[in-house]
Amino acid sequence: MSPETLLEQKLKQAAPSEELIIDTSDMNEGQAAAMEIAELARDEVTHRDSFAGRLFMGSFAPSLIAPFPRQSEKDRACGDEIVSRVSDFLAQHLDADAVDESRTIPQEVIEGLRDLGVFRMKIPTSYGGLGFSQVNYNRVLQAIASHCGSTAVLVSAHQSIGVPQPLKMFGTPQQKQKYLPRISKGELTAFALTEPEVGSDPAKMTTTAELSEDGTYYLLNGVKQWTTNGPIASLLVVMAQTAPKIHRGKERKQITAFIVETDWAGVKNTHRCDFMGLRGIQNGIITFTNVKVPLENVIWGEGLGLKLALKTLNTGRLTLPAACAGMSKQCLIIARQWGRQREQWGLPIGKHEAGRDKIAYIAATTFAMEAVTWLTSHWADENRDIRIEAAMAKLFCSEAAWKIVDLTMQIRGGRGYERAQSLRERGETPYPVERMMRDCRINTIIEGTSDIMRLFLAREALDPHLQMAADLLRRGTPLGKKFRAFIRLTGFYAKWYPRQVFGKMFARSADTPHDTLAGHDRFVACCAHRLSISLFHAMARHQQKLERKQILLGHLMDIGTELFVMAATCAYARSLAEHDADASNAMQIADVFCEQSSCRIEEHFRALKCKSVKASNKLAGDVLKGDFTWMEEGIIEMTPAA
Ligand SMILES: Cc1cc2nc3c(=O)[nH]c(=O)nc-3n(C[C@H](O)[C@H](O)[C@H](O)COP(=O)(O)OP(=O)(O)OC[C@H]3O[C@@H](n4cnc5c(N)ncnc54)[C@H](O)[C@@H]3O)c2cc1C
Repeated sequence: MSPETLLEQKLKQAAPSEELIIDTSDMNEGQAAAMEIAELARDEVTHRDSFAGRLFMGSFAPSLIAPFPRQSEKDRACGDEIVSRVSDFLAQHLDADAVDESRTIPQEVIEGLRDLGVFRMKIPTSYGGLGFSQVNYNRVLQAIASHCGSTAVLVSAHQSIGVPQPLKMFGTPQQKQKYLPRISKGELTAFALTEPEVGSDPAKMTTTAELSEDGTYYLLNGVKQWTTNGPIASLLVVMAQTAPKIHRGKERKQITAFIVETDWAGVKNTHRCDFMGLRGIQNGIITFTNVKVPLENVIWGEGLGLKLALKTLNTGRLTLPAACAGMSKQCLIIARQWGRQREQWGLPIGKHEAGRDKIAYIAATTFAMEAVTWLTSHWADENRDIRIEAAMAKLFCSEAAWKIVDLTMQIRGGRGYERAQSLRERGETPYPVERMMRDCRINTIIEGTSDIMRLFLAREALDPHLQMAADLLRRGTPLGKKFRAFIRLTGFYAKWYPRQVFGKMFARSADTPHDTLAGHDRFVACCAHRLSISLFHAMARHQQKLERKQILLGHLMDIGTELFVMAATCAYARSLAEHDADASNAMQIADVFCEQSSCRIEEHFRALKCKSVKASNKLAGDVLKGDFTWMEEGIIEMTPAA
């Protein structure tokens, strides 16, 4: 019996319980509330179908990732046409530096994009939309983001997470009939989850929606912060707390999602926020004062709002990798052109080894970013459960894009730091690296910060183990049940563990081609075993406290992410080399990416043994306590004393 079948079988035997799988009894009130809310909003994942999920259990399943999915001729032609039309339009009509300077995307550009259908790409044709695949939608977003970050975020906040996406997924036929045609005609939308006290922790939500006595409407009250498109949208998805319910024997907070029209009485935009980058976006603080929201505007059902937000973000956050890849391609062009043009110390700077190193990183990593972007986009079109891979794609691409823009700035030297307008004024090529850097920084924060992505991945990675050990871990499980769980557990791990140890020593990947990338497949297969053993040891050692070992978990999640990206990159390169005459050298670029990624993976494995975490934790605690305020002397302090 294959390890996966055995695992599924054992998981079935571990009967579902009414209690939470994670013991929150050692946590403080805030931690427990956050954990409970997150757990209740979580769907079970079947690791059998998840390529990345299986890596954490020591299984490398190339058949899940190769052959790399390809667009049908019809879908590709449709994508080619819209990408070309949108690119031509923006190149001619949108000065991205002027957008940055004036904090305005010109109305005629918004109208032009509307005429091209950009704001209805994801709406089904039956509701007046273009019914695009996720792949084509992301191809357009990649092109827009390469030119102007603010415009990409305008489109994405409206369509990746704004009203069309959750309505498409969870709306009733009446809701779709009422709102989707309006959106197809050009109304803009936004997604309002964040509040002053709610960033990564929705348990602290204070916006409330109280059902009227006659049960026909809710009264919405509260404040939403940083809502992108808020000041210009006519429709919002708003998450708010509704009356608590008894669930699994305990009173639990309910978060519910509503469609809110911004011209209803009591909805007010009180401030347009101004940021370091993305200066053209319209992002605001919105207050709701006794806003009457009809009952029929609840999306999906009472109490399902956080689940809706998480599911919306699972596909919604795929836009970020596409946008990051678009921006990185722009960096590649700049690095290539300036690397050849600029000569110092007798050579073009791109020919000095330090320059070559940067250019190789930018090229190889951009290629890998595309690989995961297109792979996850295709999988979204196939309706696969991509939550693990989408989180990995977001984490990897947003972190890599930041490094790429940083390296591009370094390659440009002082000119990288100079604003495009200033370069233009003195007759130089106005490469907008400075603006791109400011626009790029937010990607590791929005739609789930990198830390939160790692915690999210850790929860999913540990799930098969937690499911199996649940009865043992939970306090108060009757002795007999604990004993049966112990027998089940030892039965599984007695077979699973030796398989990982031997697999690590004799890893092979019989199902992958014997070509120049074959060694990388073997490396992924071997590291999947190493990863699963490390995760298992960490669980055995830290047990319930593992959830708090964020550094350790972070390294493990980064290893899993790199392995997924490596496998995706190899599969993508093979597909391009076979089908695309222009990209016949794709194997070369994938090979370099895999070499670089392998080095990072080894560093993460080494870091698992690093002894400095305890001392760092203590130091951070002492700094927070104020034991080192003497170090803060001798400067002009800008912040008021906390
Ligand atoms: C330009 C911009 C556009 C935005 N658009 C929207 C939008 O359209 N709709 C919307 O609803 N929101 C939007 N947001 C909000 C955005 O999603 C949040 O900023 C993001 O979720 C992080 O929340 P926070 O800023 O409150 O950070 P916090 O949650 O306060 O986090 C601060 C830091 O603490 C870390 N941290 C938090 N919790 C943990 C933990 N448990 N363990 C370890 N580390 C932790 C985080 O990783 C981060 O580094 C936008 C924000 C910006 C700046």
